[in-house]
Amino acid sequence: MKHEMPQLKYAKNALEPKMSQETLEYHYGKHLQAYVDNLNRLTENTEFETMPLEDIVRKAEGPVFNNAAQTWNHTFFFNQLTPEHSEMPESFKDALCRDFGSVEIFKEKFTKAAAALFGSGWVWLVKDKDNKLDIISEPNAGNPMRKGLTPIMTIDVWEHAYYIDYRNKRADFINAVLELTDWNRAGELYAAR
Ligand code: MN
Repeated sequence: MKHEMPQLKYAKNALEPKMSQETLEYHYGKHLQAYVDNLNRLTENTEFETMPLEDIVRKAEGPVFNNAAQTWNHTFFFNQLTPEHSEMPESFKDALCRDFGSVEIFKEKFTKAAAALFGSGWVWLVKDKDNKLDIISEPNAGNPMRKGLTPIMTIDVWEHAYYIDYRNKRADFINAVLELTDWNRAGELYAAR
């Protein structure tokens, strides 16, 4: 199966000034493209060649896992962003309040986890099999589906995600991603069975 680049749902300049066109040209256009190309090259003529991407993420190790998970994670991340103002569905707000205390406390905890992750990786809001929400930090290409958890939203804290726009100010990038997140989509992913 040949893996393809996901199409962005917005123009490359639509997230400015929080996320620049230049960042999308590099992060989406070059970094994600490289992961997709590497994945296609590494899986050719292997047991993974005909496997759906999610299954490769769950089963592979080493370079195949790294490039498959980075393809999946970036696709999820870019699909999460929106230039439109989005409202959280009430049921999702209720779940955040139940599991974190309030929406604000959730955002504070997510921000702290994203700021504290040392080096490269991803911080995820996930739900478990009982629909309980939690925040988990994963190094490098880590993906919560390997632990049986369902991703709801995420942030990429690799330096390539923010260095063009924010240099060393990761905290400013975290704020920007929270403002660019489509909370309606997060709520739909939470509600999905
Ligand atoms: Mn990235």
